[in-house]
Amino acid sequence: MEPIQAVKGMNDILPAEIVWWQRVEEAARAILETFGYREIRTPVLEKLDLFVRGIGESTDVVEKEMYAFTDRHGDWLALRPEATASVVRAYIQHNLQADPVCQKFYTIGPMFRYERPQKGRYRQFHQINAEAFGMDDPMLDAEIMHMLRLFLERLGLAGVSLNINSLGCPECRKSYRDTLVKYLEVHAGQFCPDCERRRSTNPLRAFDCKVERCQQLLSDAPVLLESICPDCAAHFGAVKRYLEEMNTPFAVNPRMVRGLDYYMRTTFEIITDRLGAQNAVGGGGRYNGLMRDLGGPDLPGIGFAIGMERLILLLQQGNSIQGRRAHVFVAALGEAARHRGFLLTQELRALGMEAEMDYEGRSLKSQMRRADKVGASRVIILGENEMARGEAQLRNMTDKSQTLVPLDGLAGELKRLAGEDLK
Ligand code: AMP
Repeated sequence: MEPIQAVKGMNDILPAEIVWWQRVEEAARAILETFGYREIRTPVLEKLDLFVRGIGESTDVVEKEMYAFTDRHGDWLALRPEATASVVRAYIQHNLQADPVCQKFYTIGPMFRYERPQKGRYRQFHQINAEAFGMDDPMLDAEIMHMLRLFLERLGLAGVSLNINSLGCPECRKSYRDTLVKYLEVHAGQFCPDCERRRSTNPLRAFDCKVERCQQLLSDAPVLLESICPDCAAHFGAVKRYLEEMNTPFAVNPRMVRGLDYYMRTTFEIITDRLGAQNAVGGGGRYNGLMRDLGGPDLPGIGFAIGMERLILLLQQGNSIQGRRAHVFVAALGEAARHRGFLLTQELRALGMEAEMDYEGRSLKSQMRRADKVGASRVIILGENEMARGEAQLRNMTDKSQTLVPLDGLAGELKRLAGEDLK
């Protein structure tokens, strides 16, 4: 019978790799909590309408990439393609505005987009998301990017840079839209069919197009940043100044528009040249109208998402970290010794130590080989003779020395030794 495979573009994360995930998650939680972000977990399934209204009908994510379906009751649902709309929904639904302490949230988990899978691009992928509500001050824009930089630095990630832009407010965008449409009309017929359509639906999205020809045609197009209003220009100016004062390096990229419609004013991306076509590790921006558009209070918001698969691919380049190691391996020979060894193993685990044993009654030689493979730093050898004297051999796998130790109180002694090994 053919074995069943996982769904295309959806990956298992195996134990050998999980250390990377744990390390990234730990570092993320530590830094986010320091900056006052609190964890929130929302369902992976939401009403389809949340994303259509939140992300924008004519975005690639909604038009082409969403896992949307009707359930048995005929309700339209979607697997979340991103987290912001869900966090905003939860904020409105639970009236979190009334919480005086926390207006900053983070969430870590899987997202789903029906894209063509390749290295760094999957159909189920994971993001670390941060969202902050209620604050319009440019300090927050700069702070969130600064936090992102500290996080990446703490992970030891090199070779990434921060690109920033301002998309202005809806007012600036309205007048710019006409200018851009005129430019696109001059080159009508030369763009890909999607961009030809975007001219009347959502012209700004053309900057997002992955077709090289379209990007070439756009290289002389007027950019939004040059026509933003004085208020938006002042906001952007302040963001840049704060970043400079915090020594967070950045480059202004006026062509960066981001793939979701809700962004306005500050937008940013973390870019790398080490992942081929998938050059964005993370990105975010301000979305002041989103809360209101989703039926909530008219509060500003800003946030970002980091793609964990891409981040981990980068961290793995040229680096390795050791998987977990068992501290103690119990090697027992003979039925009575195996029995005693089994109980000793449980005792060690109850004391919080990682302990392994052989369950199959193999030869001492093959048990020692296994102890080596699991990376045990100490091995307890329980033979019939030692057992009869109430003793066991304790082997130090680092310096290969071996001593006879009493079985009584052995678990406690091993716990003490493990503490010393860590010093
Ligand atoms: P976006 O919401 O599109 O700005 O995505 C934010 C981040 O999520 C990107 O910078 C990527 O690191 C990651 N990401 C987005 N789509 C995918 C995907 N299909 N596969 C893997 N990572 C992704």
